[in-house]
Amino acid sequence: MEYRKFGKTDHKVSRFGLGCMRFPESEADAIKMVRHAIDNGVNYLDSAYIYGDSERITGRALQDGYRNRVYMATKCPVVHVSGHVDFERYLDEQLARLQTDYIDFYLLHNLNPDNWDKVKRYDGLAFLDKMVQKGKILHKGFSIHNTLPAFKEIVDAFDWEMAQIQLNILDEHSQIGIEGLRYAADKGIPVVIMEPLRGGYLPNNLPERAKELIANHPQKRSFVEWCFRWLYNKPEVAVVLSGTSTVEQLDDNLRIFDRSAPNVMSDADTALIEQIQGELETLMLNSIGCTGCRYCMPCSRNIAIPEVFRLYNNYKMTRPNPIDRVVYNQTYITGNIDASRCVSCGICQRHCPQNLKIMDLLRIVHNELADTV
Ligand code: SF4
Ligand code: SF4
Repeated sequence: MEYRKFGKTDHKVSRFGLGCMRFPESEADAIKMVRHAIDNGVNYLDSAYIYGDSERITGRALQDGYRNRVYMATKCPVVHVSGHVDFERYLDEQLARLQTDYIDFYLLHNLNPDNWDKVKRYDGLAFLDKMVQKGKILHKGFSIHNTLPAFKEIVDAFDWEMAQIQLNILDEHSQIGIEGLRYAADKGIPVVIMEPLRGGYLPNNLPERAKELIANHPQKRSFVEWCFRWLYNKPEVAVVLSGTSTVEQLDDNLRIFDRSAPNVMSDADTALIEQIQGELETLMLNSIGCTGCRYCMPCSRNIAIPEVFRLYNNYKMTRPNPIDRVVYNQTYITGNIDASRCVSCGICQRHCPQNLKIMDLLRIVHNELADTV
């Protein structure tokens, strides 16, 4: 495992950080997986209040001496905050869930315009400083899926000690992108990368032409390995998060990050990535870039938004296989969880970190998959 000095701190942090969002279904398996990661050199864990049972299970995994072997990062549910006192109330709950006295890196979660307004309105930055003084958190950070100007405004507004952004080969120039990564790094703010595979969307929808390009390249690596390699090749990247769901995936990630020094890609490797990017951009024109994060849920009309989008993407990839249409009509429409139930309240769309136009997309999905429109 490669370790890097983390910004202005003295911490040596593993370049592979375990994302605790997509745990295996069994709690025992999740605990085993977290400990397996730590036993194999991972020392950075990332969770969040809104990741279901993630903090509680991670807290259990960190018993028996594991807590002192990791830097624990978790995130404040700014979306639920409705007054200054809420910040500390949620933090105390998170400390209890994680069975710890302090959080190493505490992030204000998903600073979209609504959440950033709340942070300003309810003195969220003063809260962070106060918690450092109290020793409940050690370092202050934020996570964001938004535009580059929004990112720069937030970076410049406070003495952050880290930032977490979405970056992958498809998002090189979207959201915060490479330019944002360098902007933060130039200010000495270490950047943690999330969604390196776009929540599995990239490997699950990889076009055949991209597979051929990878198979014919002299360096034999999997697509997943190329995605990670493209990231750890950048010296500005402090940690790459990967949310594994099985020990097999974890072991593959450990192998990939065993040697993850920066500046290792050749010109031929970079040319391969550029060709893959071209194929993925074409893919994006024909599918929905949903990562399955579920930030849009629940829908007040019970629409299974991420499942509907996954079904649609599958349909587009396997056409003319009619099975997905059958599933949509016989399971989703019959079960009253289909796209046509949308009343355009807009709530889901405000929470989507990928900025998907969910309401428009649901109409497209229904028009293509429903037997009778
Ligand atoms: S806009 Fe439609 S899909 Fe989104 S929450 Fe409202 S009803 Fe549900
Ligand atoms: S639609 Fe957006 S918020 Fe909902 S699961 Fe997909 S990416 Fe996440």
